[in-house]
Amino acid sequence: MDRESIAQQRATQYENMLHLIGRQRAPTEEAASLLATTRMRSIVNCYRIAEAYKGGSKVAYVSEQFPTEVVFAAGALPWNIESMSNMLAQSLDIDHVFRLTQERELSRDICSFLRGPFGMMLAECYPRPDVVLTNDQPCEGLLKTIFMAGKRYGTPTFALHTPNLLDNDALDYLVQQIETMLTRIAEVFQAELDSECLRSSVRNSNRARVYYRKAARLLERHALPGVARELLEIFGMNYFGAPENVELCKSLSEEAAVLAETGGPKRPRVMWIGQTPGDTDELLRHLDQSVDILYWAALWEANLAELDEEQPFRSIAERAIRYHWSAERMERDLDRIADTYGIEGFIIANTWGCRNMMAIGPGFRSLAARKGIKHLTISIDPVDRNNYVFTHIKNRVDAFLETLR
Ligand code: SF4
Repeated sequence: MDRESIAQQRATQYENMLHLIGRQRAPTEEAASLLATTRMRSIVNCYRIAEAYKGGSKVAYVSEQFPTEVVFAAGALPWNIESMSNMLAQSLDIDHVFRLTQERELSRDICSFLRGPFGMMLAECYPRPDVVLTNDQPCEGLLKTIFMAGKRYGTPTFALHTPNLLDNDALDYLVQQIETMLTRIAEVFQAELDSECLRSSVRNSNRARVYYRKAARLLERHALPGVARELLEIFGMNYFGAPENVELCKSLSEEAAVLAETGGPKRPRVMWIGQTPGDTDELLRHLDQSVDILYWAALWEANLAELDEEQPFRSIAERAIRYHWSAERMERDLDRIADTYGIEGFIIANTWGCRNMMAIGPGFRSLAARKGIKHLTISIDPVDRNNYVFTHIKNRVDAFLETLR
């Protein structure tokens, strides 16, 4: 497809997206964040969304935890199909999007994190991609959805296979795939690989990571309202490699440092494990009245690691393997996080249709029992309101909170 046709299609897709926002569902009571970083993140999100719909932009669909440094190195914009859908779901008519997936007989037993992005594509409101890239994280379902995206738009689709084991052979295997992928992306864009672009993207990623880690470290010893959530949002954006992300992480670490000085009331700390609803969600607001919520994924070891600027592909490969849902490694990591952050309770959130969480949950419950940590397992759907209402679990949540007092 030539650039002019792509520009026309993206203009229509942009209109469709605005139209869906126009049919916004009833507003919820906003949980206003006190952080300037949150407002800054909104601006960055608006900017990157607007850029992606421009005809001249090179857009790469990516899956969760895809190494975006590779995308920036190729001069493209990453469009994380899952997190974009989750973010947009907070403002647009997501029920209409889900209806479209049902009309196409996509099973309702598939999680809303996958039905959402596919519905967005059916609604023709995502920007047409130039290339589709995926790893196999965090699940096979996402891998399949992203392949469906490549097929829908007829665009080149490249995948990484991330081994579960972490050893030299596995690293060599993945490094080779990343190098090949980058060459193929350059071929799609008919451009020469520019090693300076890769260096700059890895440098930006590391600079952001330093600030990200500073904020996470402050959270170890201080109650910092809004910081844990912001870390999660920045992780979810998966925008490492972009200069804007450096500013975002810097702003967060500065705000965290100020909050650490002023201090906040010490309350029990609860670790949210599993996929998370938007920050205005009723359950989160309810929990927030009596406990501090930290988010497991944002504090994963893989999220705190810097890349080796001399061997970027090797460290990107290592981080990718660490992101894999290896039950053994994840349990060890959760153990570390629980000790480091003084966690008193786990909330294990099973998302409707997510086999990953169903499979990994029992190990976390055993860990909680061994460590004397209170735990509650809930079944929710963070995006599709047809599958869950807070009132159905409120009594159990309140009983759990009672045990923490
Ligand atoms: S919620 Fe579970 S099944 Fe759905 S995309 Fe995430 S890991 Fe995969």
